Amino acid sequence: MHKIEHIAIAVKSLSTSIPLFEKILGNPCYKIEEVPSERVKTAFFQTGESKVELLEGMDPEGVIAKFIEKKGEGMHHIAFGVHDIMKKIDELKKEGFEFISEIPKKGADNKLIVFLHPKCTNGVLIELCQEIE
Ligand code: ZN
Repeated sequence: MHKIEHIAIAVKSLSTSIPLFEKILGNPCYKIEEVPSERVKTAFFQTGESKVELLEGMDPEGVIAKFIEKKGEGMHHIAFGVHDIMKKIDELKKEGFEFISEIPKKGADNKLIVFLHPKCTNGVLIELCQEIE
């Protein structure tokens, strides 16, 4: 892992949360993107070399809606940047870690992403992401 790529926050509404985070961070939202594979709408803010990503679910029955129902709005996952996602998956598998899916998917912001299973990370949802060249 070479940096914290982003911290993702689950929100009920991007339209109310974007102006809030623009005020907190002092930076404008630079991109809103739908990720059909994850059924989420995302909004990005740059904070130094890392980003804050707001996540709004596109389905009332989807993972973000369920997360908010259970835990309320708040921190959803932390994403670490890696240079070679397949290599990192292999290394972590050898250490006994499990993934929600071992096959990287195309995530928001031109990234390949995978999630470690929270049952082997003390309940923290951790994403690995690699920039698509
Ligand atoms: Zn993420």
